Amino acid sequence: MIEPFSDEYFMKKAFSEALQAFEKGEVPVGAVVVANGKIIARAHNLTETLNDVTAHAEMQAITAAANLLGGKYLGDCTLYVTLEPCAMCAGALGWAQTGKIVYGASDPKRGFRKFAPKALHPKTELIGGVLETECSELMQEFFRERR
Ligand SMILES: [Zn+2]
Repeated sequence: MIEPFSDEYFMKKAFSEALQAFEKGEVPVGAVVVANGKIIARAHNLTETLNDVTAHAEMQAITAAANLLGGKYLGDCTLYVTLEPCAMCAGALGWAQTGKIVYGASDPKRGFRKFAPKALHPKTELIGGVLETECSELMQEFFRERR
């Protein structure tokens, strides 16, 4: 059983966002932002729907969380995302001084750790591989269907 309010618990919430993206024919990546044990923003990838390459789940989650908090910095927040952030999102998460980032599947091809390993804020805590199997299987299923 998944413990409430654990990293796995919130990653499940990000995963349901990823499923929504999947149903829309979007690359299935989902994200939630958590502050004080509460989800304050949810988002999923919408690059096709919006015709916008910047509409990654993380970018929208950052904007939504900052709007809700009324401040641009997310130092007291944790961002959960089903896939390792790309260099663009890692840069944005760095600007937001995000307190903690938890991702599911690694992305050896487009992930920030390959291209911009120092993009995050130096104080950001980074955890990878939470619900990795589910998250990467969803990605694989998506690309299998597309072929
Ligand atoms: Zn991204």
